[in-house]
Amino acid sequence: MQEECIFCKIIGKKIPVALVYEDEDALAFLDINPIAKGHTLVIPKKHYENLLVIEQSDLNALMETVQRISISIVKTTGAEGFNVLQNNGEVSGQGIPHVHFHIIPRFKDDNVPIGNAPRGKYEENEIQKIVEMIRNGIPERKVEKVNEESKEVEKEKPKEKSKKRSSKETYWIRRELDLA
Ligand code: 5GP
Ligand code: ZN
Repeated sequence: MQEECIFCKIIGKKIPVALVYEDEDALAFLDINPIAKGHTLVIPKKHYENLLVIEQSDLNALMETVQRISISIVKTTGAEGFNVLQNNGEVSGQGIPHVHFHIIPRFKDDNVPIGNAPRGKYEENEIQKIVEMIRNGIPERKVEKVNEESKEVEKEKPKEKSKKRSSKETYWIRRELDLA
């Protein structure tokens, strides 16, 4: 049997945490090494490795929780803003392979190096190529879209079949697409 990840152990109450919120699908608790006071992690109770593989309905429910916890953090910590951070893959800084959202309260002049990373520029002719590449890789919607006006459920129109991604892309992204 595969070893449980740390967050699954937290969900199973095998590791104690400073619990902020719990419902049948999600948990929110303080990060053990906070970037700022009130830095909170929101996780689904089901183990999904990253944002690419979480079921869309579970993600939708989780995002509602992220918003509710964010509202409380802003209200109660006096934060002037906050970052929602979500790392995928080791290269991005993901340390725990169980999808999670960081909510990090931000204060004036806190000098937290998030949201102000150095930016580059595109070369000429590069933009169109990259736009097309990404456009062609977007998978079809999995969840039916609700038309707010008529309250009728309408199926998304079928899109053009996505092109195969280039071999340059990282293994874990390709693996997800193969599953899709
Ligand atoms: P990641 O780097 O994967 O995006 O974020 C994982 C976060 O989990 C880190 O910020 C780390 O401080 C936090 N973390 C790791 N282990 C524990 C733990 O046992 N308890 C709590 N509360 N947070 C943890
Ligand atoms: Zn897990």
